[in-house]
Amino acid sequence: MTTFQTSYIHCPNCNEKMYAYELTSYLLNNTEVYSDGKVEASNPILLDEILLCVHCESPMWKEDVFEGNDEEIDYDNTKEALHISDLFPPFMEDSEQKTINYFLKILDSDFTDKSIREIYIRMKLWHLLNDKRRSLKSTVPRFFKRLINKISKKKPESRFQDYNLYFKPNLIRLLQIYKPENGEELLLKAEMHREIGDFEQALQCLNNVEGLGNENMFDAIKRAVRRKEYEVFRL
Ligand SMILES: [Zn+2]
Repeated sequence: MTTFQTSYIHCPNCNEKMYAYELTSYLLNNTEVYSDGKVEASNPILLDEILLCVHCESPMWKEDVFEGNDEEIDYDNTKEALHISDLFPPFMEDSEQKTINYFLKILDSDFTDKSIREIYIRMKLWHLLNDKRRSLKSTVPRFFKRLINKISKKKPESRFQDYNLYFKPNLIRLLQIYKPENGEELLLKAEMHREIGDFEQALQCLNNVEGLGNENMFDAIKRAVRRKEYEVFRL
């Protein structure tokens, strides 16, 4: 069951009051899982770590502002905090690119003040950039994609438009700061190497993975590394 609590929060920038939700438990069911760790959740904004002030649109880290007292909220007279997806709704022109630009902007600001926060934003960016090609995945079987790539001898750079500009630099930086602490995280690191075509490094990470609860993802990523595939895929 998914449960959450509601709390008043105050914007560190303008000090105005609003309310926000915090998850207390979350159950993933009927979700799609991808090799880059993205999970298609039914209510993804509940998982957001970043909120925006509804009054001045400043970004805030949820953990900095959430007080967690389960108070009675005066919904008629208080507004709800915004999410980044509210700034750039899907129907807006270039919504994807605008969201990417927004993440790049906050990465470059004082808002990203700890490496754990930089990792969070860069993971979001990674998933967002993959979203542009992720949708193809379910309709084009991987077998055919592999065949097409083999025949056309496509270079990684031509994979998609943002590869050199955003995708590769983002993963290279992520690999510098991401320090896996368990088998799942090491598997994710292998996936980062794989998606920029560092198959040797990916294999090295995979050789050190231990203690996984579920081996499916491990086997699928290892197979993809052996075949020198670099695309994100759905499990
Ligand atoms: Zn504000």
